[in-house]
Amino acid sequence: RTIGVVHLVSTEANCWSTDTCQWIEALVNVAAPMIGHLQHLERAKRRALIDELTGAYNRRFLEEALAKLVVPDDRRRGHVLSLMVIDLDHFKKVNDTYGHQVGDLVFKTVAQTLHRTLKESDVLARYGGEEFVVVLPRTDSAGAVAVGERLRTAVAGLALRKLAPAAPERVTISIGVATYPVHAATVAELIHAADEALYQSKSEGRNRV
Ligand code: GH3
Ligand code: MG
Ligand code: MG
Repeated sequence: RTIGVVHLVSTEANCWSTDTCQWIEALVNVAAPMIGHLQHLERAKRRALIDELTGAYNRRFLEEALAKLVVPDDRRRGHVLSLMVIDLDHFKKVNDTYGHQVGDLVFKTVAQTLHRTLKESDVLARYGGEEFVVVLPRTDSAGAVAVGERLRTAVAGLALRKLAPAAPERVTISIGVATYPVHAATVAELIHAADEALYQSKSEGRNRV
C-alpha cells in the first residue's frame, strides 16, 4: 500500500551518494509506518463520529460540537445559533408498506438531500431513529426558518420512485426550530425547545417548519 512519495531534488552535482540515499531510505522506513498508523487512527476516529447508514455525524459528535458552539459568554456578545430537529413524517408506514430496506434507502436519500442543501459550516447529525439535528451557527430564527423551508421543499420534491420502483411516491419532513439564546440558555433547553416546535409542526399537519 502506497501511503506517500518522497521526492528529493538537488542542484548540486553528485549529491546523491550511496551513503546519502541509504540514510534517507532509513529515515523514510521509520516514518512510513508511523504515517500509516496515523492515517489508520484518523479513519477510526472518523468512523466513531459518523453514522454509518446516513453518513451524517452521530449524536456523540453533535454533543461535542454543541458544547463547543454554545458558550455562555456568547450571550453577552450577542452571538446567536439556531438548532433544528427534523423528523420524517409517517415513516413507520413507509417501513410497514415497503419494507425496512426501502425505508433505509429513503432515509439515506433524505440525509443526502439535507446534506446537499445545507452549507459547509452547518452541522448535520442523525439524532435518533429517523430524526436529524441541524446546527446553524450565526443564524437567527428567521434565517433558520428559511433554511428549514429550503430543506422541507427539497425533501418533498424528491421523486423517490426514480430511485426504487417499490418506494413511496414522496416523503415529507417536519421541522422544529429554536434559537440560542432567545429560546434557551443551555444546550439541553435548546434541544428541548426545538423538539417542542417539532411537536407543534406534527400536530398542525406535518410537512412544515
Ligand atoms: P410521525 O409523522 O408522527 O413522525 O410518524 P412516524 O411513523 O414517523 O413516527 P414513529 O416515531 O411512530 O415511527 C418512527 C419510525 O421510524 C419507526 C421506525 O421503524 C422507523 N425507523 C427508525 N430508524 C430507522 C432506520 O434506521 N431505518 C428504517 N428503515 N426505519 C427506521
Ligand atoms: Mg417520524
Ligand atoms: Mg421520530
